[in-house]
Amino acid sequence: MPSNLNSLLKWGEGQLTAAGIDSYRLDAKILLTAFLSVDDVLIYSRPDFAVSPEDILSYREAIARRSRREPLAYIIGKKEFWNHPLTVNRHTLIPRPETEILVETALGYISSMNGNIKLLDIGTGSGNIPISLASEIPSLHCTAVDISAEALETARFNSKALNLEGRISFLKADLRNLPFSNLENGGLFDIIVSNPPYIRSADIGALMPEVALFEPRLALDGGADGLVSYRQIIEGCQAILRPEGVLIMETGMGQAMDIIGFINSLAIFGEAEIINDLAGIERVVAVKRLPA
Ligand code: GLN
Repeated sequence: MPSNLNSLLKWGEGQLTAAGIDSYRLDAKILLTAFLSVDDVLIYSRPDFAVSPEDILSYREAIARRSRREPLAYIIGKKEFWNHPLTVNRHTLIPRPETEILVETALGYISSMNGNIKLLDIGTGSGNIPISLASEIPSLHCTAVDISAEALETARFNSKALNLEGRISFLKADLRNLPFSNLENGGLFDIIVSNPPYIRSADIGALMPEVALFEPRLALDGGADGLVSYRQIIEGCQAILRPEGVLIMETGMGQAMDIIGFINSLAIFGEAEIINDLAGIERVVAVKRLPA
């Protein structure tokens, strides 16, 4: 087993290449710096730096996990979202860059609202969405809901780490029971956001192993047509979204028109807006409830 920085890096790259991981170079470097607590500058300035046997062991384990296709974010336990280093684990979806589009869209709508704003995030996972929004808007109070107690614990941990604990309430609830009976504020929100599970159940097995084998099924599985959660959220809005309040949801590829179909079928909303991602995929649907 090699023991200096450069040879460990090369060894890790070789292991990850053999496991078919395209980003082997970057991943080996990230794992080396994460598990050896060395600055990556040292890899280049002191390639012969001798690493302790304990650190070598941790790095080897990390490379073995990545070789089994475990996502990097779970191995290092962190993922950056909206410039916040969030803790993530097997109970939380790994926040995706696309979801920052939802955050941006929400900020746009919030900028025209006055006073204290009450936001509900359905399926909060790591808490990435309310944490990002609360960090930007001091008058925002968020309720973050998830069905997983472990995800909520992680989201709470993240909010505490970023000093946002008093601004986000956490609630364990099942989307299927919307409107949630135990909402603490009497139930009316100014804004409801969600990045719900939207993969068709039958398609999950064909996703890349990092997703299919490691990310929580509850966070991915959108039922037979991928749209089950959207119907539940849109229907739930009738009881918990205030008149002229806003509903903003992330959508999967090709789903926006069906989702807007459900929205329009309720006749309580105005005209929906679709926001595309950088790849031109319809990524976010936003719509205002009509005045009372
Ligand atoms: N809200 C979290 C995210 O956007 C989790 C979403 C989910 O679990 N489907 O990453």
